[in-house]
Amino acid sequence: MQLIKRAFKTWMLWELVKGLALTIRYLFKPKITVEYPEERTPLSPRFRGLHALRRYDSGEERCIACKLCEVVCPALAIVIESEEREDGSRRTTRYDIDMTKCIYCGLCQEACPVDAIVETQHFEYASETREALYYTKEMLLDVGDRYESQIAANIAADAKYH
Ligand code: SF4
Ligand code: SF4
Repeated sequence: MQLIKRAFKTWMLWELVKGLALTIRYLFKPKITVEYPEERTPLSPRFRGLHALRRYDSGEERCIACKLCEVVCPALAIVIESEEREDGSRRTTRYDIDMTKCIYCGLCQEACPVDAIVETQHFEYASETREALYYTKEMLLDVGDRYESQIAANIAADAKYH
């Protein structure tokens, strides 16, 4: 009986009919393909994109050069040098992140006691050279200045889960 059933299905091209029926069914369903970059999907406030160094409203850098982010970074992507200022505060003289090493784990952001180093929702920074992906302190502060309102909104949205 099984043999007859199988032979009948083979003769009727049953698998082909099943496949075509599935195709026809999906032909009339709403399309879910996103036509990037014209269309974009929403991003989570926790999205881990390009890093940024933030400032306080006064313009002062948040980073206090505690180096926790440098220590916690599993990819050894962060390099920090610091010095004491005349007012006794400690600030970085160098803060570099090699984005070619970074694995976007977010540990630097988690470790930072003053929310100075964060990951933004910006992810369109591909480059043809490795050098362009080596972000210096000035570049990171510039990213922070450009995306501060978005960064602050994302931190506020995620605050209740911390
Ligand atoms: S996201 Fe992770 S790998 Fe990248 S710099 Fe931060 S701690 Fe290092
Ligand atoms: S970014 Fe944050 S964790 Fe890293 S050195 Fe500055 S204050 Fe410390």
